[in-house]
Amino acid sequence: MRRFPDGKRFAFTIIDDTDVATVANVGPIYRLLEQLGFRTTKTVWPLDCPEGSPDFDTSQTLADCSYREFVLDLQRRGFEIASHGATMESSDRARTLRGLEVMRATFGRYPEVHANHANNIENLYWGAERLDDPVVRALYRLAVREGNVYQGHRETTPFWWGDIAQKHLRYVRNLTFDTLDVSRVNPTMPYHDERRPLVNWWFSAADADNCGEFNRLVRVEAQDQLEQDGGVAIVATHFGKGFVTDGRVNELTASLLERLSRRPGWFVPVGQLLEWLQRSGVGGSLPAAEWRRMQWRWLADLLTRGVRDRFLPRLRRRFA
Ligand SMILES: [Zn+2]
Repeated sequence: MRRFPDGKRFAFTIIDDTDVATVANVGPIYRLLEQLGFRTTKTVWPLDCPEGSPDFDTSQTLADCSYREFVLDLQRRGFEIASHGATMESSDRARTLRGLEVMRATFGRYPEVHANHANNIENLYWGAERLDDPVVRALYRLAVREGNVYQGHRETTPFWWGDIAQKHLRYVRNLTFDTLDVSRVNPTMPYHDERRPLVNWWFSAADADNCGEFNRLVRVEAQDQLEQDGGVAIVATHFGKGFVTDGRVNELTASLLERLSRRPGWFVPVGQLLEWLQRSGVGGSLPAAEWRRMQWRWLADLLTRGVRDRFLPRLRRRFA
C-alpha cells in the first residue's frame, strides 16, 4: 500500500471552484475546514465582469475588497489559491493576462493550479477536444451539442493564452469522475499528454457539483474504502452551491468532514499533493489503455449523472 508523508494512509483534498461564491456563502465552510485540519485549494476570479453574466453574476471576485481580504486571509492560513480564468465569462488574451497579473500582485506569485470554467471560450483543450477516442467524442457531441469552440490553446485566435499557461501554470484539472478515490480510475497522476503540450501536467478529480452531491460522494462507506485502499481523493466542487445556509454549514457535510478529519489522512492542498505524487514517481506519461478507460468512464459518469438529474440541458454547465 502507498504511504503518504507523516505516516498518513490516504490523501484527501478539495478544489473549490468559485462559481457563485461570496464571503457569506463560503466563509463558514472554510472556517470549519481550517478547524478540522484540512488545507485545500480554492479557485478565484481576479477580475469582475462588466458585461454581466446570466449564470454567475452573484459571484464575488478579487475586485471586491471584502472578498479579496477573505481570500488573502485563507492564503495566510495555508489554503492554496488557484486560477479559474480571469472572470466568469469569456476573456480574450488581454483580459486573461491582466487577470494573471492581478493574481501575481495579490498573492505574490502566479497560480500553480488552474481549472477551466463552464463554457468560457479561452478554456484550454476543452469540450470535445478533451477526448481522443472517436466513439466517445461522437457520443459526447450528441449528448452535449456544444455551441462553443474552445480556443485558449489555439495560437491564431483572440482567446489564445496557451503560451502563458505553459509558462506559469503547473497543474490543470481535466476529467472528473463519480468516485471519491480518483487513483482507481487514474493511477498515473499527474500526467503529461503530448497531444496537449501547452498544459504541463493534468490531474483528475472526483466530481461533486453541489452540497448534496458532495455529501453522497464523501459518505462514510466511501471514506472507509478510501482509507482501506490508501487512495487519493481530489474532490472538485462549488462551496457556493448549498453548503451554507444563514451562516451555518450543512449538518451532514459538517459531520462527514468531522469523521474524515479523525482518520489518518494527508489533508494538503492540490498543488502540494500533486507535487508529492510526482516526486514519488507516480505521475508521468499516461499509458494508452488507462487513457482509453478514463474517457469511457468519464462519459458513462456524465450520462449517468445527466439522467439522474433528469435535466439534460444542465450537462452543458456541468464542467464549471
Ligand atoms: Zn466554474
